[in-house]
Amino acid sequence: MWIVPEREIADLMTPEAAFDAVEEVFAAMAAGDARNFPVVREALGHEDALYGFKGGFDQKGAALGLKAGGHWPHNLARRGLINHQSTVFLFDPDTGRPSAMVGGNLLTALRTAAASSVSIKHLARPDARVLGLIGAGHQATFQLRAALRQRAFDRVIAWNYHPEMLPNVAKVAEEAGVPFEAARLEDLAAADVIVTITSAHAPSLMADHVAPGTHFACMGTDTAGKQEVEAALLARGTVFTDEVAQSVSLGEAQHAVATGMIAEADITELGAVINGVHPGRTFADEITIFDGTGVGLQDLAVATRVTELAIAKGVAIEVDF
Ligand code: NAD
Repeated sequence: MWIVPEREIADLMTPEAAFDAVEEVFAAMAAGDARNFPVVREALGHEDALYGFKGGFDQKGAALGLKAGGHWPHNLARRGLINHQSTVFLFDPDTGRPSAMVGGNLLTALRTAAASSVSIKHLARPDARVLGLIGAGHQATFQLRAALRQRAFDRVIAWNYHPEMLPNVAKVAEEAGVPFEAARLEDLAAADVIVTITSAHAPSLMADHVAPGTHFACMGTDTAGKQEVEAALLARGTVFTDEVAQSVSLGEAQHAVATGMIAEADITELGAVINGVHPGRTFADEITIFDGTGVGLQDLAVATRVTELAIAKGVAIEVDF
């Protein structure tokens, strides 16, 4: 069994490798070659922590396993650790023997950013030039960096509930050489692509804030009760997701489905677009929405890739287990 420590991931895994791994596994899911297992997520009643498991089996990619982890809100203040902590465990699908234990913190950010950029690649207008961002926390920097690679964006406009956090994302845009502006929510109508990545429990972006032709990657809502955009916005557009079961239960679409504004059958897996089974965007003014809920198979895909890289580079630790 191999161990790939968290400290090694940054030197091994590139955003491009994460993008390829996630695009491939979304395609495998839509083709029926890979499936996620039901998510377990529990409040521990200790340290205000949320803890859970996301797992699955990708028969095509020979990846079996799970990510265990969650959110410890006091980590940063009390211990200088990031609040999200996770570890991926991989198993040999032929024998059930454990094959790898992999640090999952950076991988989570990379695979989440990869998911929204896969959606931008396949669903945003080719001529998209203005990138909108809602959120400025830990994930937002990764989201912005990845999204900027997908189109020739010439401007980033961003809003955050806590405006004092905006310099976190302004720095990323500046590093990429793209002008950055703090915006009001209503100014986001100028954006061609909008990524939302907050932990909000009430919508910030309203359906009226939105211009025709915009692509949305709604990435923050990964739990029942969270919400980033008004449910009516989903009814105005065409909704795509990583996995329909998660989208309707814990993703951004949960609210639109619960109130009957859209039906489960209206939601399409992004993998179907990647596989050419669904046309994706069909006209320039169409609003497309990707509900990125975060699936276990994404974690297994990037952990499998990084384990191969770590073994090849001689930095994976082999243990007799
Ligand atoms: P973070 O704590 O670093 O940042 C939180 C962000 O949410 C900040 O921009 C903050 O200003 C904003 N926010 C907080 N309260 C708000 C409110 N009431 N209204 C509007 N905005 C508010 O968190 P993070 O690590 O960047 O994660 C952001 C979200 O992404 C979380 O909900 C997390 O669970 C989710 N997430 C999703 C996936 C996925 O695969 N979809 C993966 C990882 C994280």
